[in-house]
Amino acid sequence: MDIINSVEEMQQRALTARGNGQKIAFVPTMGYLHQGHLSLLEEGRRRGVLLVLSIFVNPTQFGQGEDFDDYPRDLRKDCALAEEVGVDLVFAPDAKQMYPSGYATYVDVERLTESLCGASRPGHFRGVTTVVNKLFNIVQPHVALFGCKDFQQLAVIRQMVTDLNMPVDVIGMPIVREEDGLAMSSRNVYLSAAQRLQALTLSAILGESAHRATAGERDPQVLIEAARQRIAELADARIDYIQICHQDSLEDMTQIDDNAVMLLAVYIGDTRLIDNGYLLR
Ligand code: AMP
Repeated sequence: MDIINSVEEMQQRALTARGNGQKIAFVPTMGYLHQGHLSLLEEGRRRGVLLVLSIFVNPTQFGQGEDFDDYPRDLRKDCALAEEVGVDLVFAPDAKQMYPSGYATYVDVERLTESLCGASRPGHFRGVTTVVNKLFNIVQPHVALFGCKDFQQLAVIRQMVTDLNMPVDVIGMPIVREEDGLAMSSRNVYLSAAQRLQALTLSAILGESAHRATAGERDPQVLIEAARQRIAELADARIDYIQICHQDSLEDMTQIDDNAVMLLAVYIGDTRLIDNGYLLR
């Protein structure tokens, strides 16, 4: 497995692989890998001849006062895990490589980015779509794998790929959870033991809401109110949003059907956690 820091070298390797008829599968991440990332890599391994993992904590997707400086990083451990799952190339550029002085171009997806995380993190998705666009140009993937953990991000990336006619097959992969239900996230390391216990309420709410929807509840407000009350019982929790949205438009639903996804963003202490799940599948 090779570790590449240079944009030019990565792009050259990708173009050469393409010239040799190799299919490139790509998993972009911010590193500090866990089983969620590894599930994407395992699927990528099945789908591509050349499997590329990028590790880049992208400054343009963090807002003022967010956790860019504190974001957990461990490149050595990440590379060991990547090697175990059969990654061929790790692309780990630094910020100066990706955004040299004079950098001036951004990609902005309208509408889908205005609600949910986009509303509470202005500029976040602009940073995401810009870096994913750059990474696609550098890594030249045929297939790129993303987690449904970041449900809105996946929808925004699909929209960008469609709108900009990018020849990349975007695959969404299921959320990988700890045994107790907590969605895996690099940010979970920020949680104290007491906070981690409170964080379990997120996946519990998704489970209970799906259960009630399956039993016949069709009013989103009833489930949202019940969820709000559950969160209010927690000592360290603060709701960013709890919404039930259509899977494609991400607009709020007035009646629950097969398209309904419940999306949560909740601060536990200073740590912002997100989770989501379909209500009727
Ligand atoms: P990140 O490093 O947090 O930017 O995530 C990189 C990719 O891994 C994104 O496509 C995420 O959606 C995906 N991912 C993160 N956590 C999980 C999880 N628990 N299960 C599945 N995919 C995940």
